Amino acid sequence: MENNIKVKVNDLHKYYGKNKVLKGIDLEIKDGEVVCMIGPSGSGKSTFLRCLNRLEDPTSGQIVIDGYDISDKKTNIDKVRQNIGMVFQHFNLFPHLTVLQNIMLAPVDLKKDTKEEARTKAFKYLEIVDLADKADAKPASLSGGQKQRVAIARALAMQPDIMLFDEPTSALDPEMVGDVLDVMKRLAADGMTMVVVTHEMGFAKQVADRVVFFEDGVIKEDGNPEQIFDHPQAPETKRFLDKVL
Ligand code: ADP
Ligand code: MG
Repeated sequence: MENNIKVKVNDLHKYYGKNKVLKGIDLEIKDGEVVCMIGPSGSGKSTFLRCLNRLEDPTSGQIVIDGYDISDKKTNIDKVRQNIGMVFQHFNLFPHLTVLQNIMLAPVDLKKDTKEEARTKAFKYLEIVDLADKADAKPASLSGGQKQRVAIARALAMQPDIMLFDEPTSALDPEMVGDVLDVMKRLAADGMTMVVVTHEMGFAKQVADRVVFFEDGVIKEDGNPEQIFDHPQAPETKRFLDKVL
């Protein structure tokens, strides 16, 4: 495998019972690439993302991340997962822990960082998401946008080399969206490999190296933002963009 390929997906299928949700996905993502995934609701975008860190088991096909075949049951998935950060639409912060404790938890538990190391790192990432002053706050006292930025800091604290985002701004009030997208733009500019399922077409246009259009469990089109947004080839892409733009 070429060593600048971060993610390689071959003929991925995922069925829920008789419901065929992913019907043969092929995709390569290079180191440092930002890939935005767009497409109608129910087209399989979340399922695909969840397969990438094996929150879902593929029905068939192969997924290789950092050279590890994560579709192989013998692969130590916990180890690979430590390098894959995931941010969901709903932030899933632990309500009984402070912001700082939320961020320190996984590095101490999984990476065996000392508390001091974890605290130092947590503050570094809180600075990055511009929330150092909220270290001792409980999640309930934060706005949605702040919670999501904490969730991003928490994922970054594991020092992943790929970040997966599943509609990170969809549950936010409109005035909060920009702050979260700004953090993601900075991550992208710093060279993070990112896969972002999003309805934010402006973000995709501006930040993505590649845009992948999903429909009905297959990738209908894959190209740079200019190709996808200005010169879509597949009729399905055109139809979708006509609806959302
Ligand atoms: P998207 O993220 O593009 O909206 P999803 O991946 O969430 O699409 O869903 C694709 C299809 O898979 C939908 O028909 C959905 O109902 C189905 N699905 C998703 N998750 C599950 C699950 N855990 N069990 C059964 N069906 C599921
Ligand atoms: Mg989804």
